[in-house]
Amino acid sequence: MRKENRVSCRNPVFLFYTMTAFHFLDQILYVEDVPIRDIVAQVGTPVYIYSAQQILENFHQFDQAFQSIPHLTCYAVKANSNLSLLALLAQAGAGVDIGSGGELYRALKAGIAPEKITYSGVGKTEQELVEALQAGVQRINIESSQEFELICKIARELNTPVYLSPRINPDIDAQTHPYIVTGLKENKFGMSVEQARTLCRHARECSGVHITGVSMHIGSQMTLLAPLIEATEVLASFIQELRQDGFQIETIDLGGGLGIRYHQETAPTPEEYGSALLPILQPLRCRVIVEPGRAIVGNAGILVMKVLYTKQNASKYFTIVDAAMTDCIRPALYHAYHEVLPVHQTHDASVPMVTADIVGQVCESADFFGKNRQLPQPQPGDLLALFTAGAYGFSMASHYNSRPNAAEVLVHKGDFRIVRQRETYADLIRGEDIHLL
Ligand SMILES: *Cc1c(COP(=O)(O)O)cnc(C)c1O
Repeated sequence: MRKENRVSCRNPVFLFYTMTAFHFLDQILYVEDVPIRDIVAQVGTPVYIYSAQQILENFHQFDQAFQSIPHLTCYAVKANSNLSLLALLAQAGAGVDIGSGGELYRALKAGIAPEKITYSGVGKTEQELVEALQAGVQRINIESSQEFELICKIARELNTPVYLSPRINPDIDAQTHPYIVTGLKENKFGMSVEQARTLCRHARECSGVHITGVSMHIGSQMTLLAPLIEATEVLASFIQELRQDGFQIETIDLGGGLGIRYHQETAPTPEEYGSALLPILQPLRCRVIVEPGRAIVGNAGILVMKVLYTKQNASKYFTIVDAAMTDCIRPALYHAYHEVLPVHQTHDASVPMVTADIVGQVCESADFFGKNRQLPQPQPGDLLALFTAGAYGFSMASHYNSRPNAAEVLVHKGDFRIVRQRETYADLIRGEDIHLL
C-alpha cells in the first residue's frame, strides 16, 4: 500500500503524512491505491474519505499492545459512528464503547454483539438504560448514586441481572485541552473512590445488581502517559480493596484518550501505552477494557474540499472553501490544528507561496480550518485536504446555516464505496411541518 514518496515537496510536513494510508505519488494525493481525484470526480465535495486499512492497522496495534492478558478493545463510537466503520471493526473483533441510545442503535445495526458493548455516560435516561439491558448489554459504567438507584429499579422491573462498573474520577490532570479533560474533581464525570466505595456497599442490598468492574476515562488527546499510569494505579488499588470486601471484580476499564499527532505533538504509540500499563494490570488478573476512539480513526480520515474563491482584505489573504465548521468543528471548538494540503502538488516555481487563512462558508469568524497557512497560491476549483479528520469530524457535524452534511467514502485497497450519501435539502427539513396558528 505504501508507495515511495517521490515528490520532493516544498512542504516538509508531507513526509509525516506518508506514514499513513494517505500518501503523495507523483504529486498526487492517494488513499491506499486510489487517487483522491477519482473519488471526488464521482462523489463531489466536501467529502470525508476513510482508509479501511489504516483503521484496521490502528485497531490491531491496540489489540496487540494487550495481547499478553485477557482484553477487549471497545472502539468509542462517538469518534466516528458511521455504520460501515463500525461493521469493519466488528469484523476485526472489536467491541464498542457507546454513550447514548442512538449509539446503541447504531452498534446493534452494525452487527456488534451485545456482550461486546460497554455503555458509558453521565446522563443515561431510563429509556436508554432499559434499551441497553433489553439488548443484552453486560457492562454499564455507572457515574452517580442516583443513576445507580434507577438501575436497581429497572433491574427489579425487568428481572434481569445487571453488571456495573463504577466510573472513578481519580482527580488527575490529563494535561490536555480543558474541554476534553474529564478526570478532575471539578469535572462532571464519574465519582470519587470514596463515593464508589459507598455505592458498592449499597449494591449488596440490590438483588440482581452486580459490581463486576471498575472504570475510568480521564480525558482525550492525551500525549503523556504519566496521568494514565497514575489513574490506573488508583483503580488497581481500589480493585484490591473491593476484592478484600468480597466483590468479584472481573474487569478494569481504562477508558480511551490516547492522543495522536495532528501537528508537532508526539503521542505515545498503543504499544508504549500497553507497555506502560501492563505491569499494573498483570497482577490484577482482570479482563482489561480499553476504549480508544481518536487513536483508531483519527489519522484514517481526511476531509476533501474545493476552493471557491481567494481574496485579500487589507493585509490578509483568504482561501474560501466549500466545506465549513458544520463539517468539522474542531478548529472552532478546540482551536485544534489540522494540516491542510493541496490534493495536487505543484513544482511550478512560478506559482507563488501565499500565507492564507483557509475559511468556510458559514457566517461566523470561528469558521476556519487553518490560519496563516503557507501554501502555493490556490485557484478556484483546486482541491484541499484537511488531514487527521477521521475522529470527531463527521460525528460532530451540524446543519447550521442549513448546510447538508458531506458524503462519506470508505476506501479499501483499490476500491471505494460511498458509506453515507451526501445529504439533500429534503434531508434538512425531515420531520418539520408548517403550521400557521
Ligand atoms: C470519548 C470517550 C472515549 C474515547 O476517547 P478518545 O479520546 O477518542 O480515545 C472513551 N471512553 C469514554 C467513556 C468516552 O467518553
